[in-house]
Amino acid sequence: MLKLFGHDDRFLVQQVRSELDVARIPYLVKNEYAGGAVGELPWQETQMELWLLDEQWFGKAKGIVDALTPDSNKGENWQCSHCGEENEGHFSLCWQCQAVKAEPAF
Ligand SMILES: [Zn+2]
Repeated sequence: MLKLFGHDDRFLVQQVRSELDVARIPYLVKNEYAGGAVGELPWQETQMELWLLDEQWFGKAKGIVDALTPDSNKGENWQCSHCGEENEGHFSLCWQCQAVKAEPAF
């Protein structure tokens, strides 16, 4: 088995689940009923997790997750088009020259 996705936002996890259902991708849910145990377990262990039963589905399933979680793509570094400085993904302005981050051109 292969862990596909884990998040403490259960609504988001449910969205991913319904998309996986539509795509007929087999998966397993972990910690679905662990919510009541918050306080007894480290929070990481109460995150709802989706696991793929067969990793041949990973490429397709990851595409679904990425489409529903644009925030997870913000971690990538970007290069300032003005001064060429490399900036971390969570900055929307260049730390060097304050130029606005250019939107990806595709
Ligand atoms: Zn710059």
